[in-house]
Amino acid sequence: MKLKFTLVFLSCFGALFAQNNVPSETDLRIYDIIDAVSADRIEQDVRTLAGFGTRNTFSDTLSDTRGIGAARRFIKEEFDKTSAKCGDCLEVFYQKDLVTPEMGSRIPKETYVVNVVAIQRGTKYPNRFIIMSGDIDSRASSATDFTTDAPGANDNASGMAGTMEAARVLSKYKFENSIIYVGLSGEEQGLFGGKGLAEYAVKKGWDIIGILNNDMIGNITGVDGVVSNRDFRIFSEPVPANETERQRNARRFYGGEVDGNSRQLARYIHKNVEKYMPEMNPMMIYRLDRFGRGGHHRPFNDLGFAGVRIMEAHENYTQQHQDIRTEDGIAYGDVVEHVNFSYAAKLTAVNAINLASLAWAPPAPETVKIGGIVEADAKLAWSKVDGAFGYKVYWRDTTSPTWDHSRYVGDVSEITLDGIVIDNSFFGVSAVGANGHESPVVFPNAIMR
Ligand SMILES: [Zn+2]
Repeated sequence: MKLKFTLVFLSCFGALFAQNNVPSETDLRIYDIIDAVSADRIEQDVRTLAGFGTRNTFSDTLSDTRGIGAARRFIKEEFDKTSAKCGDCLEVFYQKDLVTPEMGSRIPKETYVVNVVAIQRGTKYPNRFIIMSGDIDSRASSATDFTTDAPGANDNASGMAGTMEAARVLSKYKFENSIIYVGLSGEEQGLFGGKGLAEYAVKKGWDIIGILNNDMIGNITGVDGVVSNRDFRIFSEPVPANETERQRNARRFYGGEVDGNSRQLARYIHKNVEKYMPEMNPMMIYRLDRFGRGGHHRPFNDLGFAGVRIMEAHENYTQQHQDIRTEDGIAYGDVVEHVNFSYAAKLTAVNAINLASLAWAPPAPETVKIGGIVEADAKLAWSKVDGAFGYKVYWRDTTSPTWDHSRYVGDVSEITLDGIVIDNSFFGVSAVGANGHESPVVFPNAIMR
């Protein structure tokens, strides 16, 4: 009788232990982060930025009320204020590079392109960074016109204000990885601010998880007549721009045409939004950026860093890069009246929850090997990472855009997927923390024979 009791007790205890031995599914702090983003504060910052008249890269830098100098000092002051409220948790500084007329047709004179950077240092991996960016600069009809009013309320005070707000919200938490909030400049002249910071990152040896570049996150009324405060786009390029000839060749035989590091980052955001913000409709767009157009994630992509563009789904071209005027009954200009602040707050929350998840997650496995040629079962093996509670294996049909199947496999470094033939699916592996937060999925980068 006594023995039976003990056995029952042990088996109950065993079941309990097994349940506790998987990482958490949901982190309630993510809902707090969503709730903390303020549309009012974003509105205030958009109005202040638009109020500087023009923020053209070549505009006045001395005035306190007009031009890009006043704008960047305002952004720095806001980051400094946020930092003061979290015990100086942000390292705030200017990062600048000189541009000259020889560097492009949209550079009328020599000037410094100045970015404003705020680093929230990670407790465990201070040199690993997830970045959120917006732009400081704006433009009128002509990119080189630095005197005409160019409020740039949506393009891109909205992305800049969202970045400042994400810093306010996330600075209340501690993360294992570092987060960078940055205002980039020189966007409208050829992405010079992003280029400068990406090169600075290489020089400093920063280990970059990825960049979430926000460019126009406040317009809900499309030129096509669609009005939606739910849809938004995540642009990502298919494979790294700087891949080697050998990697390109290998892809013909092993796959990976739509599985580069930027694409995995896009899928990560897509999945997190579906889980925590089901009211939103994230649209993964399988291209670097809009047709023939540019954004500040690209200079990071050029150097092989993962990076995506997050933006509204329905653009209005009469309100971008336009002198303020009325012509044939159409009111042109990127003015504050066209920005929807609760939508900008939603997209800011999209950024904030993904910054938090990535900053709370362990590093991704460096090497993921795959095997199973002419066999019934696919096999995966990976390099373990410090801080992972376990690993998750993903697979999907070759035509599916999302990782539809997954299996948590515990703290092991290899797995055989019984009865799943390697030819008919794509596979990947992520590292999972005890808190449930995951690294991006790593597509296999080595072959097992
Ligand atoms: Zn623009």
